[in-house]
Amino acid sequence: MSSLRPLHIGDVERLAELVVRSREFLAPWEPVRPESYFRLAGQREAVAQSLKSAASGLMEPFVIVDDDGEVAGWINLNNIVRGPFQSASIGPALPRHRRRVLRPPPLPAPRGLSWGRFPTRPRFGPASASFVATGLAVRCSGQTNGGATGVQMSATSDPEGPSEPRKRILFLFSDTGGGHRSATEAMIEALDLEFPGQFESTKVDFFREYYPKPLKFAPEIYPPISRVPQAWGLSFKVSDGKGRTKVVSELAYPYLRRAAQRLVKENPADLIVSVHPLVNTTLMRAMRKSPRPYITVVTDLVSTHAFWFDRRADLVVVATEEAKAKAIDYGIPEGNLRVIGLPVADRFSEQLLDRDAWREKQGWRTDLPVILLVGGGDGMGPLKRVAKAINEARLSATLVVICGRNTELREDLELLDWHMPVHLYGFTSNMPQFMAASDMLVTKAGPGTISEAFISGLPLVLYARLPGQEDGNVSYVVKERAGVWAPRPREVVEAVKRWVEDPGERARAAAASRRVAKPKAARSIARLIADQVGVGD
Ligand code: UDP
Repeated sequence: MSSLRPLHIGDVERLAELVVRSREFLAPWEPVRPESYFRLAGQREAVAQSLKSAASGLMEPFVIVDDDGEVAGWINLNNIVRGPFQSASIGPALPRHRRRVLRPPPLPAPRGLSWGRFPTRPRFGPASASFVATGLAVRCSGQTNGGATGVQMSATSDPEGPSEPRKRILFLFSDTGGGHRSATEAMIEALDLEFPGQFESTKVDFFREYYPKPLKFAPEIYPPISRVPQAWGLSFKVSDGKGRTKVVSELAYPYLRRAAQRLVKENPADLIVSVHPLVNTTLMRAMRKSPRPYITVVTDLVSTHAFWFDRRADLVVVATEEAKAKAIDYGIPEGNLRVIGLPVADRFSEQLLDRDAWREKQGWRTDLPVILLVGGGDGMGPLKRVAKAINEARLSATLVVICGRNTELREDLELLDWHMPVHLYGFTSNMPQFMAASDMLVTKAGPGTISEAFISGLPLVLYARLPGQEDGNVSYVVKERAGVWAPRPREVVEAVKRWVEDPGERARAAAASRRVAKPKAARSIARLIADQVGVGD
């Protein structure tokens, strides 16, 4: 039985081979193509275009994989229209495969659409059969003879809803920094990719949307507080411990109870996934009379605060063995623990098709190594001093600074007298490409950024950390030889200078970084979630 999986950048070569081999066979159904389409470069462009359209929700490209795991064809859900006129067109290409035309598996509905009241989901017949998608909610015109076709169909929304209700997953996060949101979005994406159309995910910033003042402003308060590391470190230390979190939670509960109960009532869910330490105890207490399945996904790598761990959680996912040991210390039964990794979006696993072309598009030089400087989602830590020190060193490199939401920092840096090629950015949603196009990363020790850098194979210079919370991240990176700890700007300069001038040493640190990467964590967590609610058995 063949199966479908989302198109991946690594499929280019195989697709190019198929396109050339089946050119004649598919010709009756294919539009007129330029010659370049039948070459590797043309396929690279076509795949890149599909992935770009997929990222913006306009299409969903799949490849058909035979039972030996070989890519044998492809199917695209094109022209996806959401809203009242829910529709999509299907563009399959089913080349002859091992002397027969492959019968593809059922198509998933595009994300956010449903197949309505289908007796069965749309299926394709073999070469000579007609398109067999039938159903109340579908209009078909056209036929397929096994080649590519543009069968138009509408999967209109069905007032009675889909026959199998989707499982509702409620993700609890907050924009205190950028890491909790990134992890949440990576898991939602992984659920959609692993189980298309079977989950309905909602994400709630519990601080901002439910908690009373002044906690409501936690996302706004987080950057200024974290600028006073001693205060952060002290509060982390005095509150960390099983007994201490219990006292704090007891004291806070009367004040948070109504908000937590409202949150639960307004967001019915089959399963709750929390990616934030400061919601677990309150929420589980608020729903103690009718508990819902609950998974905590810990988004700190090593130094995990006791607030993460409430034994009432059905499962607790951690990223490292060190975090597992801490969880056991804080009373989580070993059987409820899974060491998987921090969930990171699939896009970080994709290499740039043409790194130089991407750099050129950004206006970066292609002949110099690129130092990427990031301070979390809020441009935190002494980013300005570090940028200035690198500038003073006049290294033979390009400096790319991502200031995140810190607009003041960007304005300050724009006024600096730069002695090296520099490019300044605000908050970007293209972090995977920025990392893929860079040669080393200088960052504060945020767990999300570190995990993404591992996957992108970037060596790390860590210039700052939140005391307590991010201490373990530093020791982990150093222990694994994936990077160095450089708390003074002078030390940052020494480290990047070494890597700029000695590509061999840089390559060794890059390889160490890649070795500890866990690129499949989000997918594994998605399967764990599915398992908990009985999907995909
Ligand atoms: N990030 C981003 N765009 C930016 C800056 C940061 O998407 O311009 C993301 C980054 O890729 C990472 C997250 O924000 O996923 C930062 O998480 P981390 O845990 O490193 O630090 P935090 O901001 O939570 O302290």
